[in-house]
Amino acid sequence: MTTVIRDASWIAAWDAPAGRHVYRRHGDVAFKDGRLSHVGGRYEGPAQEEIDGRGLFVMPGLVDIHSHATSQPLYKGICEEVGNPELWWSGLYDNKLVFETDAEGTAPSAEVAYAEMLLSGVTSFVDLSAPFDGWLDLMARSGARAWAAPMFGSATWHTDDGRNVIYDWASDDGQAALDEAVAVIEAAERHESGRLAGMPAPSTPDLCSPRLLGAVMGLCQQNRWRFHIHASESIHEVQEIRRRHGTTPIRYLADQGLLTPRTILAHAIYADTHSWVTWSRSEDIATIAQAGASVAHCPTPFARYGAVLESFGRYREAGINLAIGTDTTPHNMLDEMRWACVLGKVADGNLDAVLTADVFHAATIGGARALGRDDIGRLAPGARADLVLVDLEHPSMRPCRDPLRVLLFHAAERAVRDVYVDGRLVVARGRVLGLDHERALSALDAAQVRSQQGVAGRHWSGRGAEQIAPYALPVVGE
Ligand SMILES: [Zn+2]
Repeated sequence: MTTVIRDASWIAAWDAPAGRHVYRRHGDVAFKDGRLSHVGGRYEGPAQEEIDGRGLFVMPGLVDIHSHATSQPLYKGICEEVGNPELWWSGLYDNKLVFETDAEGTAPSAEVAYAEMLLSGVTSFVDLSAPFDGWLDLMARSGARAWAAPMFGSATWHTDDGRNVIYDWASDDGQAALDEAVAVIEAAERHESGRLAGMPAPSTPDLCSPRLLGAVMGLCQQNRWRFHIHASESIHEVQEIRRRHGTTPIRYLADQGLLTPRTILAHAIYADTHSWVTWSRSEDIATIAQAGASVAHCPTPFARYGAVLESFGRYREAGINLAIGTDTTPHNMLDEMRWACVLGKVADGNLDAVLTADVFHAATIGGARALGRDDIGRLAPGARADLVLVDLEHPSMRPCRDPLRVLLFHAAERAVRDVYVDGRLVVARGRVLGLDHERALSALDAAQVRSQQGVAGRHWSGRGAEQIAPYALPVVGE
């Protein structure tokens, strides 16, 4: 069955020879059996379904390269302004982790995150989570193209005083967790939906032993999986790797043979040239570029702590493949893209340092390349029919001289009307078809209440939720 979107007002089409997206106006987009058969101009072939494209902007589905669907949604209203001053912007090692999602809240959390992603135009995502029962089926039910990325390490950590990170190394060096990850990835690849895949996600260079990381990369080479690791994510991690190995996390990974074209580095923000990192050399950016590794850029969580990538423009000029991820809550990809664009300009003090087209490229082609795919993130004949219909009649989109700019800087997810994955409708008129968003939100509300009750017992100091994450305004009169 062929579906044709007739006379779309605007299309973001892929110009393969030029290697860039271009606008086409007043054209048709047709797809059949999950693939695009026609993009731009008049489609003259047969069609069983016809959609009026007037008043619509048709763009490729976005690729969310890095998200934590099972842990982050519960942090809404909690983690935006919570760090750990004694560990001086420590990223992973901060106080929000005591607001954990319990087993009952895990699936609803993921369901909320997947819904948010779809509603913001995401058609492909990578979820870095601890595996749980029903994970793959929930991903499949979302209708998206999804990569399960089980996260694990050789160690966990805790603190007894809020100033020192203590590593608790597993007696098996994380091997059992790796074995479980492999089983989940293989099950994803076999999943009947045909839209799931996987990749191992060893957590960070300081929480994984060199042996574990080497074993993971061996499996990735053997099975053609991507290798997804947080790196240069926190100042603490940079200091710890320097203490252990006398070098930066990026150089350490390169020396271990872990920087390859199949490597996805989240977030690679504290490179040796970053102004918060004092280092004698300036090699990290070139090292990533030479290895052909990708960077999963997720500006929001860092910006909340006052930190930016230095910089999107500089990484891109060096030849690094940049992709965009939502990472934390909100899992709103268009919001994340707006931050990437604005903060890229701020980091360089230059309006031209990052333009809308650069961020759009990263959120589509960059993500696809990081995943090793040349058939997603683009509207071109033969590519998968993953597309987003943006409502140009929505008040937030008007007036609309330039749909991508208006979408990014003004409307964001409000104007996303319909989303297709493999030519199948997964969001219709702003509603996710395969998920029960409302029920999941109710379950997540309850999970957040339960989580706060246990904070004092989980925090080293015995402080409760209100001390660790005070309300934005004092609550009075109770
Ligand atoms: Zn992450």
